[in-house]
Amino acid sequence: MKIAENCVVAIDYTLTDDDQNTLDSSSGGEPLQYLHGSQGIIPGLENALVGKSAGDELKVTVQPEDGYGPVVPELIQMAPVSAFEGIAEIKPGMQFQAKGPEGQVQIITVKAVTDEGIAIDANHPLAGQVLHFDVKIKEVRAATDEEIAHGHAH
Ligand code: ZN
Repeated sequence: MKIAENCVVAIDYTLTDDDQNTLDSSSGGEPLQYLHGSQGIIPGLENALVGKSAGDELKVTVQPEDGYGPVVPELIQMAPVSAFEGIAEIKPGMQFQAKGPEGQVQIITVKAVTDEGIAIDANHPLAGQVLHFDVKIKEVRAATDEEIAHGHAH
């Protein structure tokens, strides 16, 4: 069976950045399962998998536009120290979950701690990055009616 709309696909993957640092990997865990055509994974990877079948291996390079988007400078802002009340020590690189304007979960990364406040970045941690995926397709099957109705794999 070839990957197309309304297939449930299971993949093993390793994601590396331009400097060959591993950012994420399914190795040692369960394969990643997603419903094809439901935007469950980034478009650049989803598009590259169309027409592939179980057993296929491929390398996919995804540009930011087809990944987590470019870095939006407006999403880097200064926050007052009081916004981090209750946290003993704020350091660059720390990440927090926050609610975005539409209630969605955002990851906020601390960029710098200065006398004027704390520089925080609400861009996705992988925004602006070229992503390199090493993918092995484990399984391709037709989605159930329930999965299609829910818009995700079970
Ligand atoms: Zn469901």
